[in-house]
Amino acid sequence: MNDGTDDDMNDGTNDRRPTGFADCVQCGEPTEYPSDRPGSTLCPVCAWQEAQRTACSG
Ligand SMILES: [Zn+2]
Repeated sequence: MNDGTDDDMNDGTNDRRPTGFADCVQCGEPTEYPSDRPGSTLCPVCAWQEAQRTACSG
């Protein structure tokens, strides 16, 4: 409807998400790792949960 309002919201969202960083494969949160990092990228929270799951899986 209002192009000005919609464009402003999109612009703010894009501005808050830095480019060049990979998103967490679990929750989609942006991580501090570069997007060209090999393997699956996990944010600190998901990495911790993955470690806990692996530890308890034995
Ligand atoms: Zn995550």
